[in-house]
Amino acid sequence: DTITFDTLIIGAGAAGLMCAATAARRGLSVVVLDHAKQAGKKILISGGGRCNFTNMYTSPENFLSENPHFCKSALSRYTQWDFVAMVDKHKIPWHEKTLGQLFCDDSAKDIVRMLMQECRDAGAKVELRTEIFAVDAQRSGYSVKTAQAEYHCKNLVVACGGLSMPKLGATPFGYKLAEQFGHSIVPVRAGLVPFTLHDTDKQAFADLSGVASDVVASNEKASFREAMLFTHRGLSGPAMLQISSFWQPGETVAVNLLPNEEVLTLLQTAKVEQPRSGLVSVLSKYLPKRLVQVLANYGKWPTKKLADISNVDIERVANNLAAWPIKPNGTEGYRTAEVTIGGVNVNEVSSKTMESKLQPGLFFIGEVLDVTGWLGGYNFQWAWSSGWVCGESVN
Ligand code: FAD
Repeated sequence: DTITFDTLIIGAGAAGLMCAATAARRGLSVVVLDHAKQAGKKILISGGGRCNFTNMYTSPENFLSENPHFCKSALSRYTQWDFVAMVDKHKIPWHEKTLGQLFCDDSAKDIVRMLMQECRDAGAKVELRTEIFAVDAQRSGYSVKTAQAEYHCKNLVVACGGLSMPKLGATPFGYKLAEQFGHSIVPVRAGLVPFTLHDTDKQAFADLSGVASDVVASNEKASFREAMLFTHRGLSGPAMLQISSFWQPGETVAVNLLPNEEVLTLLQTAKVEQPRSGLVSVLSKYLPKRLVQVLANYGKWPTKKLADISNVDIERVANNLAAWPIKPNGTEGYRTAEVTIGGVNVNEVSSKTMESKLQPGLFFIGEVLDVTGWLGGYNFQWAWSSGWVCGESVN
């Protein structure tokens, strides 16, 4: 038996549900298929269970892509304020946490409930626990075979997300499907992911697990001022997650541990004003003492009183603090990454409709595309914007 829909969406995540509600509201018959038991699993665990659903300051500069212009159209047609209006319509309480990041007051469940409600009200069907066996192009659309049924649709929307957190149901299905229809894939890697350290560094910093500090993490490509967190595996916290998206194996990340201070001046002044103090005691006023102690051992700082430390050594320590060079061993990979960088090549997709330029009636939305946001609600905003634009375009 073949069941026919105007639009079939693979993936009941952020982008897929937004697209389904939008298309169905326009009177199209819409079905969403997902192999998971639950819709929007990533939404549910996002933002520590409160879902950082968008960012007040979303702009195209907050995204990585081989083509940085691609995201502009969708982001301007369905903005962060459009999504906030939907959240308000459903009377979901929210707040700004920091840096424009908007979170639910209560629970990320509110966002999934809202999207499911929008789908229901518009008449879009959501079929869970549905494994997809095969997708084929036909003269008048696509056939999609599952264990339960064979579907026929005019428009096929790929909203399968990326590879991060395979435990939550992430698969490379979207990329495979894209390749099946001749699309190229920009090489993928884990993004917004904690760094792991080489064994010697891991041992040196083992005692710091749980210590956090406000830093600026930077390399040639980007710079982020946020918290860094030592973990028992390596380095995490927003600053490290952000810079990880701009990092390639073998590269060094420079960490300014005292972003509020002119470090050299601070140490030179201390040498004059507190000549009998040591480096550790002076710096412990600005940084967690445990951290200073470990840095002192690690950097082999002189343990003498400041008066007896040469200016060359003072300069070396200042440089150490202002641009501590960290050479990660790698990242924790997809197991804990928040996003996948790379994906379906956006140069083969229309930025106005999200339709494939190679295969009529085939659409790609959300994280499966080579568009990746910074940490801070940008990835969901991309899912909402691209999903909405696609929902408005299918016919
Ligand atoms: P997804 O939401 O991942 O949805 C894809 C769907 O496709 C899933 O339901 C999956 O089951 C389904 N699927 C996959 N393969 C198949 C298949 N073969 N057959 C059928 N169905 C399939 N972003 C933010 O903006 N703010 C945050 O606070 C935030 N927190 C995060 C926290 C964590 C721990 C993680 C992992 C990510 C977080 N993100 C956050 C990123 C955000 O979750 C994603 O960018 C976003 O969910 C992408 O939306 P999507 O619809 O493209 O994909």
